[in-house]
Amino acid sequence: MPARLRAIHADITTLQVDAVVNAANPSLLGGGGVDGAIHRAAGPELLQACRLLGGCPTGDARLTPAYRLPARYVIHAVGPVWRGGDSREAELLASCYRRLVELAAAHEISSLAIPSISTGIYGYPIAEAAAIAVRTVRARVPAAPRLHEVLFCCFSPGDLSIYRSLLAEGSA
Ligand code: ADP
Repeated sequence: MPARLRAIHADITTLQVDAVVNAANPSLLGGGGVDGAIHRAAGPELLQACRLLGGCPTGDARLTPAYRLPARYVIHAVGPVWRGGDSREAELLASCYRRLVELAAAHEISSLAIPSISTGIYGYPIAEAAAIAVRTVRARVPAAPRLHEVLFCCFSPGDLSIYRSLLAEGSA
């Protein structure tokens, strides 16, 4: 059975899932938005673990323990900054989602919560980014047989309705 894909409205730091995804920056040393919230909730050990990784290129992802979060792991995914659309943003964003599903598969993760990567401080238009997120995750979950549930964790009702309509389209 391929994983069930759902969209919910929540603060990702509260979710009891195997892994939460962080929208990180290439330094992996913390930032604002969901990154700041995850580091605050996980505690200082998370920053220590991230320091040892020595950064992560845009379009890629890294896994650490989740320390004080209710999740077991954090997958730090580095999305592109939106520069108007001609700087390989779509390709780099899709690559991020591919890599995070690969890491989930490699670590036999069964439930995963993903924020809307790049659509906050990095400025990626939400409709385009959400379409890439849903399409890429849907295409890749068959390669992660232990993954049963993927939650697209939306931080606003507007984002939630965009994800919900994309998910409904695909299941029709
Ligand atoms: P980026 O730099 O990749 O754009 P941001 O953290 O600025 O990352 O934003 C990514 C998304 O995460 C945005 O939709 C933002 O509203 C959302 N977000 C911020 N805090 C949280 C949180 N605690 N839980 C879930 N999503 C969050």
